[in-house]
Amino acid sequence: MCGIAGYVGTRNIISTIISLLIEVQHRGQEAAGISLIRTDGRIDVVKGRGYVLDVFNEETINILRIASDNIFGAIGHVRYSTTGEYLEHQAQPVALGDENYRIAIAFNGTIANYIELAKEFNISSNRGDVFVLAEVIYKLALEYGKDVVEALKVLPYYVIGGYSLAVATSEPRIAIARDPYAFRPLVYAYNEREFVFASETSVLECVGFNNWSEVLPGEIVVFDGNSVEKTRSTFSAEFSPCIFEYVYFSRPDSIFNSISVYKARIGMGVELALTNPAQGDVVIPVPDSSRPAAIGFSKASGIPLEEGIIANKYVGRGFIAPPFIRDTLSKLKYGFVREAVNGKRVVLVDDSIVRGTTMRSIVRRLREVGAKEVHVRIASPPFRYPCFMGIDISSREELLAWRFSDLKNIAKSIEADSLGYNTVEGLRRAVGLPSACFACFTGIYPFKEFDLEKMEKMISRCYV
Ligand code: SF4
Repeated sequence: MCGIAGYVGTRNIISTIISLLIEVQHRGQEAAGISLIRTDGRIDVVKGRGYVLDVFNEETINILRIASDNIFGAIGHVRYSTTGEYLEHQAQPVALGDENYRIAIAFNGTIANYIELAKEFNISSNRGDVFVLAEVIYKLALEYGKDVVEALKVLPYYVIGGYSLAVATSEPRIAIARDPYAFRPLVYAYNEREFVFASETSVLECVGFNNWSEVLPGEIVVFDGNSVEKTRSTFSAEFSPCIFEYVYFSRPDSIFNSISVYKARIGMGVELALTNPAQGDVVIPVPDSSRPAAIGFSKASGIPLEEGIIANKYVGRGFIAPPFIRDTLSKLKYGFVREAVNGKRVVLVDDSIVRGTTMRSIVRRLREVGAKEVHVRIASPPFRYPCFMGIDISSREELLAWRFSDLKNIAKSIEADSLGYNTVEGLRRAVGLPSACFACFTGIYPFKEFDLEKMEKMISRCYV
């Protein structure tokens, strides 16, 4: 997933980029970084492991301030890794080049064929997809006479995967681009003095930019300090925004493809209540992302909603945590309210079940605090296939619904009294998009030539 943001304009650039990154923190918790682009073409990067406010403490903000002469603008990144190692050196932005031409890249997505691309461009694949992507864009830009926009126009012809990205170059200028499938969100706003972009609309609104536009599929938007120019790649692809952005990734106060994430999630709960009713005394959401779906379920079923589970805000999002800490986090993350649960038949609503470990421990804890029955209802369909377009699931073996294709066995493995999922059609109706990527539920990927087994073998993770 990952979050990106950037700013050029008359406000304090360092505090504005840090504010933007804090607002996009939900998209990546492993590392954060900022690249400052100067008017003389120099590009500096400060980055490190951890949350935005861990990385940008007094010491690092001072480094940025010392480097703050003649700043043109800044781009920033919060990292949720989907390829490569979980190490600090994987933090972004990634800068490369020399005194003649330099670029910095911040990227949200996955380049699934990065190993093949590295071979084709004669570069190392050791450090994961973003380093390969940065080198490929740099080489293509040099080929086109140091023109990164031309490089971004042809990039989709080389890449299998999904990306929304920003490239700062030493002219100086900033280009942002969304792949032609439009898997991941990317939005921007500008006026006569400022240009700002971020992964989600809510991020821009939180820092006072309400008049935003979404980057169109395959579009490249460039700001050189004076004007905004827009162009598009000629690569044609089926419009395939990630449906899981509506289920889990995006903030509920965001708009994605002109559709409110909040309303889509309420709709998922309504669909779920109609197609998978449950005999319960209370509806309880697994906080935070499933709360709107639980509201929808409660409204449609008439079963009252209660906050029976309290999330520890300081633990972060378990799904996007690295695997070596994920189980520990899932145990620490939730508190259970006995008064809301004791003696009741609980309808537990969550957005998805991916690996299943968190759900099992929640069901157990609900019983420990007195739940008579636990009926699990899931706002999305069974998650059965990996994603190569921006989330950290590269093999079917990781997925509970792949390992136990039968609903009864899945229910047994999470120790629930009953289990119901939304259907693909129900999810489609709730979101209301004419087309979207549902590949993790259907196994139908939007790429013209796609070999799932080959792709699973190609994408390798290194758990440290
Ligand atoms: S496979 Fe799933 S998570 Fe990946 S882009 Fe498609 S809908 Fe989103």
